[in-house]
Amino acid sequence: MVTQYKNLINGEMISTTDMLDVVNPANEEVIGQVPACGQVELDQAVAAARAAFKTWKKTPLEERRAAIMAISGAIKENADELFRLLTSEQGKPHQQAKGEIYGAAAISAAQSTLELEDEINEDSDARLSRTRRVPVGVVGGIVPWNFPVMMAIQKIVPAMLSGCTIVLKTSPFTPLTTLRIAELIADKVPAGVVNIITGNDDLGPMITSHPDIDKITFTGSTATGKKIMEGASADLKRITLELGGNDASIVMPDADPKKVAEQLFWSSFQNAGQVCIAAKRIYIHEDIYDELSAAIAEYASQVKVGDGAQQGTGVGPIQNKKQFDRVVELIEDAKDNGYKFLVGGETDPSGSGYYVPITILDNPPEDARIVAEEQFGPVMPLMKFSSEEEVIERANNSEYGLAGAVWTADAEKGVEIAEQLETGTVWVNEFMHLSPFAPFGGHKQSGFGAEYGKEGLKEFTYPQVITVKKDNVPA
Ligand code: NAD
Repeated sequence: MVTQYKNLINGEMISTTDMLDVVNPANEEVIGQVPACGQVELDQAVAAARAAFKTWKKTPLEERRAAIMAISGAIKENADELFRLLTSEQGKPHQQAKGEIYGAAAISAAQSTLELEDEINEDSDARLSRTRRVPVGVVGGIVPWNFPVMMAIQKIVPAMLSGCTIVLKTSPFTPLTTLRIAELIADKVPAGVVNIITGNDDLGPMITSHPDIDKITFTGSTATGKKIMEGASADLKRITLELGGNDASIVMPDADPKKVAEQLFWSSFQNAGQVCIAAKRIYIHEDIYDELSAAIAEYASQVKVGDGAQQGTGVGPIQNKKQFDRVVELIEDAKDNGYKFLVGGETDPSGSGYYVPITILDNPPEDARIVAEEQFGPVMPLMKFSSEEEVIERANNSEYGLAGAVWTADAEKGVEIAEQLETGTVWVNEFMHLSPFAPFGGHKQSGFGAEYGKEGLKEFTYPQVITVKKDNVPA
């Protein structure tokens, strides 16, 4: 009998008659069923969030923090169960799933320390003017399937901290771990403050257009982000969009191939490449191209692709069939165009489980689909460049602007290049590091607004200016 999971609405775990199957991408077996919510359940969740908002917005910050810390504690205490469940629905190897679960607990705790202080605009003999931040109200959160727990936490925590209440929708592909967390926190958070619901993609537009939701915070594809912006425009909902990326890594001629090969590999292949901030195009200076590409290929040959639940697996399956088909299509396109493969190149869609072998392309042209599009899979194109100006132009030649990296022995030069990249985040000599205290957001079509840090927290608030005239006190 397949385990049936419930949704969290108004402090209660509820079910529906219609259920959705959830599949393990490692073997395509059904491992759980979740409620298929529609308008009725969404209305109940929104009504609960609206009712809770009345008191939650006035709840002292310390109490709100304590509730967040209770969530963080529940995740940490149950990490062992949660990371195994996460691997079974998402596919990522145990070690990486552990990283996501402990990371979610740590980030909740760190973010709970943030505070938006009042700002004094004017303190003169004539008046005192002060800006305070007030919560926007009921938030609709929508998350994808690549980091389901981290993304959910990234929405729930700042919403709670700012005094908002939230209705969060998981991805239909990866709802299980988030619903288990919902069960663990149901009695730790006041009823209605956090509501977690599941359903098909059609539940998304219902949230976006719901008249009693004040703000949408969304992580997912740029295509869906555009639909959300459109849907939210009817009543001018506030929106935060964390979208796709086609991040470039630039390796300068002074970088040591032996030192960077392994890091470059994981900057592309973590979570089977299904990371918004994965290195999706790697530009290597021609002086070290041959040596570095050989070192990356050599490292790749030692990494095992397989079921994330098995010890020793470094790269798990693609999370779902649709994404698997897309990645296979990109590899087939590269083959049809005669691009050279350094590693891999063969795909076998016939077996069970959505496995794509590690694939590394050798200097495909700039207009190849694998270079121009976000692959979101274990396929890495390596390209040669000869001058700094040229590589900066090629890196910036994208509708996306999420993140990027520069690898060099000269950190100052690294910063000089970083400052010329048109992305929200740039690393020099590292990758994927995000801080809960620094804003994370995309430029261009990679997003709208930011998460994390005070800037991210502000997105859940309106500024309110209160001005008191000092020299006009009625007698
Ligand atoms: P997606 O856009 O297909 O789906 C994301 C979520 O939106 C899901 O919960 C889905 O059910 C919901 N949804 C689908 N259609 C909707 C609609 N019309 N209105 C409202 N909601 C709708 O994305 P995905 O395939 O789940 O995730 C992969 C994408 O997410 C990649 O492009 C990746 O780069 C991006 N991503 C970005 C970040 C970031 O922080 N910038 C992080 C992770 C993933």
